[in-house]
Amino acid sequence: MTEAPPPQLRLVVDTAALAHNWRALDALSGTARAGAAVKADCYGLGVETCVPALRDAGCETFFVAHWSEVAAVARHVSPGRVAVLHGPTNDAECAYARATGAVPVINSREQAARWTASGGGICHLMVDTGINRLGIAPEEAGAPEIAALDIDILMSHLASADDDSAMNAAQLAAFRAVAGRIAHRRASLANSAGIALGADYAFDLTRPGLALYGGVPRGELAATIRPVASVEAAILQCRTLSAGQSVGYNATFTASAPMRVGTVSIGYADGFLRQRGTGNALHHGGRRLPILGKVSMDMVVVDLSAAPDLLAGDWLTVPWDINDAAQQSALSPYELLTVIGARLRGC
Ligand SMILES: *Cc1c(COP(=O)(O)O)cnc(C)c1O
Repeated sequence: MTEAPPPQLRLVVDTAALAHNWRALDALSGTARAGAAVKADCYGLGVETCVPALRDAGCETFFVAHWSEVAAVARHVSPGRVAVLHGPTNDAECAYARATGAVPVINSREQAARWTASGGGICHLMVDTGINRLGIAPEEAGAPEIAALDIDILMSHLASADDDSAMNAAQLAAFRAVAGRIAHRRASLANSAGIALGADYAFDLTRPGLALYGGVPRGELAATIRPVASVEAAILQCRTLSAGQSVGYNATFTASAPMRVGTVSIGYADGFLRQRGTGNALHHGGRRLPILGKVSMDMVVVDLSAAPDLLAGDWLTVPWDINDAAQQSALSPYELLTVIGARLRGC
């Protein structure tokens, strides 16, 4: 079949920067090795692009949330290196784990019993030390269902690693205590921000996500982490408004004088959410092109007064600096990445 022409927008993923970030986080993990959180399609940047780069940089352990995310990752790495954070919530998922070789993260006594009943074998175990999302309670460490498990990675997750919170030390102490009571091969506590908390938090394996993709959850990482994602969109059409004409749904912008505007090929379906509209701008060669009116599903309109030379087909830079405080007034860096739409990723 004839290949479809490319869309008028593109996500540029700097795989060299991604590999650099993994190596830097691995080095910052000291004697521990860094794995990689690759859930949510590598935080929106695309498993197809990111997982091979992480693998080639040396990463050996990959974390996804859902069983449905395993296959795409396992095209590039051995399935035994893929850990599924939600664990086996039913028998079909146990069967899928056995069929693929992906490793479940057990989160409850019930999941432990289900995994053992399905045949058992190597698994990981999540212990909740305070975030109260998933995981067994430390008091359940001695339960027979847990004793029956063959545990590779014993893990817990920090709730406030991006803050200077007393909770970090409390969770560290709780994790150390429980690790002494459950047989396991490797221990793992730190996410991206946790790596910056120092060697005490690293154990055997760290689990960075955000910082791999260019996010800086703590100032200590700012000098090390390189930006990975950038977004560009093309002008589809230019037009001149006369005074009194309005732009977009609900006519929320009205021109007070004649002005040249451009309709640009990016919208909320691509992850450019509506709260990023009014007050924000796209850019061209350092020139700021304010957004006019509401963000549509597939389009946004910008003021071309500062760039009279631009024509349909010219590419604009869409601000996607996930560490920029101004952009974070609308979305957290995690959201800025994970809301990037499938169309923008080119899948
Ligand atoms: C998402 C996730 C990570 C990665 O966290 P970041 O803050 O993105 O580094 C690590 N561990 C678990 C259990 C997660 O769910």
